Amino acid sequence: MRKYFFFLFIFICSVVFAEPLKLTFKIDEDYLIIHILQFSEKRIQYYKSEYVDDLQSFKKELSANCTLQEKAFIQKVYTELFTYLQLPDLKKCSEFSSVIEKAKKTKAYPILLQQTQKYLEGVEEQWKRNFEKTYQIMTDLTNLHFEGNYTVYITHPGLANGLSLGNNIIEWGGAEVEKNWSTFYLWHEIMHTYLHGGIEHAILQFVTDCELRKHLNNTVYPPFLGHKHLMSLMKDIYPYWMDYLHSEEKDIMQFTNAMKKLFPEEEYFETAP
Ligand SMILES: [Zn+2]
Repeated sequence: MRKYFFFLFIFICSVVFAEPLKLTFKIDEDYLIIHILQFSEKRIQYYKSEYVDDLQSFKKELSANCTLQEKAFIQKVYTELFTYLQLPDLKKCSEFSSVIEKAKKTKAYPILLQQTQKYLEGVEEQWKRNFEKTYQIMTDLTNLHFEGNYTVYITHPGLANGLSLGNNIIEWGGAEVEKNWSTFYLWHEIMHTYLHGGIEHAILQFVTDCELRKHLNNTVYPPFLGHKHLMSLMKDIYPYWMDYLHSEEKDIMQFTNAMKKLFPEEEYFETAP
């Protein structure tokens, strides 16, 4: 009997003290700069954002002030594409601090930083405004209990970014392609905590990129939104997804396991993504 009360006590504590889902938005200036350096002139232009000129002049000014070794460091950043979590490794390179210092001294940098701060405020405001509604939709759709503190490292709004790095760390940046864009893609990144792998990624895209977006923006699907390499798989899963949506008892993990049996990953991906 005592044992029973002990477990009941633990259960009540876990319910009462469970950490609700919380996102903290931050800018790590070193990473903001490293992320910008990963984009070529061509890719900066590709996004056709209002920030193209500021981003270009930042890169030009920095490059003009760099030594050959520093330029080689920038080239390394550009070709190897580092994530936020690799920042400590990058800091071990001897050119790291001099490049970052020179980058911060450019005329364009304070402008880029200010644009990123303004963008952060917009993303945070949008996330908070949509939170209650989207939390409910996401819980209903998945039957998952979303919790924990996530840190979202915001990068420049002119350059697309969206990565879930594990340990509740997310990178996020880029244009608001349509209204509530950051909201459903941040949920996409949060869902990566629960769903990994190719089939899971396709299902995750149904949850956030398709269904959550539909609820927020009154959009219809198909066509599906998301990674192109998952489109044929999504087309095959779609009839089952429709049945899932109409089912009374939704459980995204159960649905995912069922789909994994029906659609063997090796038939869709040469190597697991
Ligand atoms: Zn994804």
